[in-house]
Parts: sequence; structure tokens; C-alpha cells
Amino acid sequence: MEFRDLKAQYDKYKIEIDSAIQEVISNTNFIGGKEVNTLEQRLAEYVGVKYCITCANGTEAMTLLMMAWDIKEGDAVFVPDFTFFSTGEIVSFRGATPIFVDVDRDTFNIDPIKLEKEINKVLKEGKLTPKVIIPVDLFGLPADHIEIEKIAKTYSLRVLEDAAQGFGGSINGKRACSFGDAATTSFFPAKPLGCYGDGGAIFTNDSELAELLNSLKVHGKGDNKYDNVRIGVNSRLDSIQAAVLNVKLTAFIEHELEDVNRVYRLYTEKLKEIVDTPIIPEGYVSSFAQYTIKLKNKEERDALQAKLKEESIPSMVYYTKPMHKQGAFAEYDYDDSDFEVTNGLCDTVLSLPMHPYLSDKDVNSVVEVIADYLK
Ligand SMILES: *Cc1c(COP(=O)(O)O)cnc(C)c1O
Repeated sequence: MEFRDLKAQYDKYKIEIDSAIQEVISNTNFIGGKEVNTLEQRLAEYVGVKYCITCANGTEAMTLLMMAWDIKEGDAVFVPDFTFFSTGEIVSFRGATPIFVDVDRDTFNIDPIKLEKEINKVLKEGKLTPKVIIPVDLFGLPADHIEIEKIAKTYSLRVLEDAAQGFGGSINGKRACSFGDAATTSFFPAKPLGCYGDGGAIFTNDSELAELLNSLKVHGKGDNKYDNVRIGVNSRLDSIQAAVLNVKLTAFIEHELEDVNRVYRLYTEKLKEIVDTPIIPEGYVSSFAQYTIKLKNKEERDALQAKLKEESIPSMVYYTKPMHKQGAFAEYDYDDSDFEVTNGLCDTVLSLPMHPYLSDKDVNSVVEVIADYLK
């Protein structure tokens, strides 16, 4: 059994993917061109925003926004404590200060009440200027964007939705990657919509921002690549990746999103009496980048993971360490007691095999090992 079975997906779409890649090679048009343009249009349409700007990966997608918004030393950016390193890294990379915020114990996403408390703390201290909130759609579940938007309005902050794991999710029919002033996603192979290497995208309805991002990602280009009006970077999605994504986006829309939700329902039906299963609030749809259960304590979690491994069932711990405890952020003074929920989650979460090609039989065999073990 695979944790995320990319081979099964390739087997199903081999003819389409091979011919899409072959076409790029035959046309020898490896950067930009029709594959990238088509993909950007389709992604923007699916998500429901005006502009999609593809780039090299999900981390650079966020960095490009930090550049576009001129986030720098002295600025405070609010980031959940329970996320992948990237979300905080891009803040420090700009010389700004990441303010980590504890998460909600049910959704694992940034806690809006604690967020507002942290904003007020920064304002009261008066050393940093609050600028941006980066809610993460963790494990595929959209953050509480409705509450976050209210807070952002109250304090005049920008919102960057980090939907690296969230592509395909929605709140009352409004899709992930359409919240905030801008949103980003990642096409890293194991994400809900993955390519065959690195890739990323930015989404926004702001035409000026879109234009600025399109310049920043190509060496700060003006009229063309050799007319440079600002300092930028080189961050493009290459045509072969775009060609692969055009095939995979169709599969994602046609059945993959529904299939991960089928797996979710089956797991949850069988596990909900035994362990804490994912909580999907009313009106929310998750794209299940991960299916994550909670155990009683670290001993139980680690022992169950060892048992699954014995039975050749892969599982992962996302994440073993809260952001505020990462060595890279040692220069900042975080108070460990502010992160009660994240500290607990790092000890108790376990992500089970989850992907659109997981059979009911495989789900049942995972469930059986867990049920047996916890009995
Ligand atoms: C994967 C991920 C990123 C970074 O994406 P890359 O394409 O790997 O750079 C950022 N944020 C979160 C929450 C992620 O899971």
C-alpha cells in the first residue's frame, strides 16, 4: 500500500500524460507557451478568480507576494504554529517577523480568537507593524476565512491564503485559492494537484497585483525580459509541468476530489468510535491532502505507527515540531505556553494513507489494524 499512490494515477492516465509531455518536446517550447497559458486560464476559472500566475513552487509563490507587498524588517506577519516550515520561512526570508499563532484543536487551522489576541499584543508592544495574515488550509481543509476576513478588515491587514495543501477545498461553494487578497498553491507531487517536479501558482482578483507578479517572476521585466524595471527573480512553471498538470486537472475535477472524499467517509465511518477523526465543519469541503487522526498521547501514537509499519502500512506524522520550536526561528522569543494546542497535536496526530486511488479494501485493512490495536 502506498501513502499517496502516484503510480496508480500515472497508470490510469499514462496515454494522456505521455502524449502531453511528448508534444512539448516535439514543439521544443519548454518555457511558457500554450501549455502554461491554458493551465493558468483553467486554474483561474476553476478556482473562481480573475488571475492565475504560475511559478516555480509554492514557497516562491508566497515569497513573490511578500515582494509585491514590500514586506520587510519591522513588519509582523501572522502564521499558524502548526504548518509546513515554508509558511514562516518566507516571512523571515524577507527580514520580517513571523508571529506564530496557535491553532484550533478540531480543524488544526489558525484560531481566529488567538489571532486577534496576537495582533493586539503586537500593536500594544509597538515594535512591529502588523501587515499580513497567512491562514493555511491545512491537510486540505480551508481555514476559517470568514472570521479571518473580518479580523483583517478591522486591523487593515492583508490576507495571503496558503492553499499549498488546500486546492479543491471550499466553503459554501467558494473554492480554496479564492480567499484573501491573494492565494497560493503548490504542485509538489504529493499535494492534492501535483505535477512531476516542482511547481506553484498565485491567484488574485487584483489586476495591478497580477501585473506586478508577472514582472517580478521574470527578472522584474518591463515591456519584455530584457527591459528590467525592478529587481525580481526567475520563478516560472516549465511547459512540461504545465502539460502534465493540464491532464491531471481534468482528472482532479472529474473524479479525484470526489474519490478522496469517498475514502474520507469510509475511514471516518469505521474509525469514529475508536479515535478522533477529522472534523469537517458544516459547509466546508476538504481536498484531503492528508487524513489525520488524533490519538490519546504520544506513546499511543508512536506505538500505533510502529504497529502499522509492522503490517506494511505507511503512515506519517505531520508535523512533529511546532513552528515556534524550529531552530531556524530561535532568534525570536516565543512563549511556549501560548501554543498549547499545537504542542499537543505534534504529539498525537497521525496521517493515514490517503489518495484518490485507495481501494475500499485497503481502507478496511488499515482500519482493521487500528481497531485491533486499540481494543
Ligand atoms: C508544501 C507546502 C508549501 C510549499 O510548497 P512547495 O511547492 O514545496 O514550495 C507551503 N505551505 C504549505 C502549508 C505546504 O504544505
